[in-house]
Amino acid sequence: MFDRHLPLGYHPERPERLVAARAGLARAEVATVSVEAREASDDQLAAVHEPAYLERLARLAGERAFLDPDTFVGPDSVAAARRAAGGACALVDGILAGEIDRGFALVRPPGHHARPGAAMGFCLLNNVAVAAAHARARGVRRVAIVDWDVHHGNGTEEMFASDPSVLYASLHQWPFYPGTGAASEIGRGEGRGYTVNVPLTSGAGPGDYGAAFDRIVLPVLEAFAPDLLLVSAGFDAHSDDPLATMCLTADAYGGFTRALTSVCSRTVVVLEGGYDLRAIEASVEVVARALSGAPGEGVVAAPARGHEAEIERARRHAGATWRV
Ligand SMILES: [Zn+2]
Repeated sequence: MFDRHLPLGYHPERPERLVAARAGLARAEVATVSVEAREASDDQLAAVHEPAYLERLARLAGERAFLDPDTFVGPDSVAAARRAAGGACALVDGILAGEIDRGFALVRPPGHHARPGAAMGFCLLNNVAVAAAHARARGVRRVAIVDWDVHHGNGTEEMFASDPSVLYASLHQWPFYPGTGAASEIGRGEGRGYTVNVPLTSGAGPGDYGAAFDRIVLPVLEAFAPDLLLVSAGFDAHSDDPLATMCLTADAYGGFTRALTSVCSRTVVVLEGGYDLRAIEASVEVVARALSGAPGEGVVAAPARGHEAEIERARRHAGATWRV
């Protein structure tokens, strides 16, 4: 079904991305259990999306349309999006049932730009947010979402900005699409402090991200002590990605995964963006190995001088709430 979410011509968010991701998983040669994705229910979607938007999407089933200049639907796209969100929920259920320890949702369309009432940036339904709300509804007390996609997950942030039970931490290129994600955005109301943004300028590499994890993301997560961790895993901060200009390697994503699962072993990684097919395949392979518990390096904090100040600025904003 995910492969039937088809663009109307060339589009970077294309079915071949998932073929590459599956090839990476196969190359990892780790023991896996397949969990069948099912469509998310209306109730699951309504926990984070507005009814009028869900009705609009339902009317688009079977149609072709553009919902914003970047975001298409084809005849099977709404069903694929519902299945992508439901797939992430199914992995949460697998963990809560004790059937699996960790999960990797190889799904599309991606989700983290999808807003409560609108599609945006290739995203129709916010898969990771639907899964977080589903976990909360099932009694999980604290859910953390770490978003290492190169773009800021504006939709996810918006959905949980005032909710202290769902912590959202994002590392992203900035200034960049979608324009949100300044370090000063830290949530509001009861959720103040439970949004952590680490904007990094163009060219950041493994040592810069490593410092951001080491000094900000990991200590915040340790203090928050999530019962479940969801990862918005785009691979578009890879140096080969055609849409962005960051300098990560596939191995860096393995380090992120090891560091995160050492804080919270109950982890579901959900595919977001990433538009270079070889980079997706190599990165998925490394992340799958790390998820399986295979040994390897964690994160290495070695910020370049140009990125040191921006990491420090983000640390200061997080430091208003957390001991970082
Ligand atoms: Zn992205």
